[in-house]
Amino acid sequence: MTNEVYLIDVTNKSEDNIPQKIQTLYETTQFNDRIQKNDNIAIKTQFIESHDTTYIKPEYIEPIIESIKEKEASPFLTDTNTLFNGKRSNTDKHLEAANEKGFFDLNIPLIIANNTPADEIEVKISKAVFDKVKVAKEIYDSDAMIVISHITGHTLTGYSGAIKNTGSGCATRNGKIEQHKLAAPFISRIACLACNVCIDLCPEEAITVDSIAHIDYDKCIGCNNCISDCPTDAIKLNKIKSEEYMKAVTEYAYGAIENKKDKTLYINILLNINPDSDCNSYDQNPIVDDIGILASYNPVAIDQASYDLINKQEGNENSMLKNNHDPEKDKFKGLWRNIDSYFQFDYGDEIGLGSKKYNLIKI
Ligand code: SF4
Ligand code: SF4
Repeated sequence: MTNEVYLIDVTNKSEDNIPQKIQTLYETTQFNDRIQKNDNIAIKTQFIESHDTTYIKPEYIEPIIESIKEKEASPFLTDTNTLFNGKRSNTDKHLEAANEKGFFDLNIPLIIANNTPADEIEVKISKAVFDKVKVAKEIYDSDAMIVISHITGHTLTGYSGAIKNTGSGCATRNGKIEQHKLAAPFISRIACLACNVCIDLCPEEAITVDSIAHIDYDKCIGCNNCISDCPTDAIKLNKIKSEEYMKAVTEYAYGAIENKKDKTLYINILLNINPDSDCNSYDQNPIVDDIGILASYNPVAIDQASYDLINKQEGNENSMLKNNHDPEKDKFKGLWRNIDSYFQFDYGDEIGLGSKKYNLIKI
């Protein structure tokens, strides 16, 4: 696998023509030389929640679609439903979200993969956490794939990029449950007021309340729906288990591309680098200034390069970042002090998903 990571600067939004820059970046990768006429090309992105304004815009993807069409191949947009109860938790709502954001204007098929339990394929990987992983069939069956990721922080992985978007985003509902169960939340005995609010928030009837609330971990799927509306913040994310979750997601990424390793291109968007996932509803100020857009065939290298580029920047004092503002300091550790984000790159390198070493080429 090559370790080139291409970077195109996008530092001044008022002057930069982002779609044009993405076209230049895409042409530099020569992805069209890796695909054939009539190939089905999955474009894996995120159609995102209604409130979000920093998502990957349809116009950013348009030049890629036009180039693929020139090769007479067939691109389709795709993502899978979320576990948490947001706008994308079932296919109808997910299609509505995509429509709201203008993705249907791109006039290519838009497939919410794993719409039914049958749309799942088990891929043998024989790794430490999973022997097999459960991948959305429509994505796995594509001839080639482009994974386009908006780089942000994340409450469970610290940093979220290509590995997370591939590993979590190509997993079926059953696959996501396998991953999330490894980092299911817990309840603080001191903070819980036994108010019963969380009982109705749980889709799996996993919570009972007596003098305090209890989670039945045989039933809990780790969706984290219960966390946000607890009046005393008594339900906590289990960050101690984040390494196990990162291992699971990284193994899933390995399985999702197992049949097209050299035909998967990753594009990381380092604009509006928010402290937390775009799925969250609160307003977020970016943790550093815009950097640019990266592309690579190596998911580990592109994430390591993205992480390093972000950390080199001066941190934004007017953001959720409370520590490590100085250049070269770890911004994701400054956000999520209990999480070692780079673990996902180390583990991706160890299991052969890609290599951490990269050759950054500015274009
Ligand atoms: S919502 Fe929070 S405070 Fe209320 S019972 Fe559940 S855990 Fe306890
Ligand atoms: S207890 Fe588990 S299944 Fe229920 S809402 Fe919380 S995380 Fe989801």
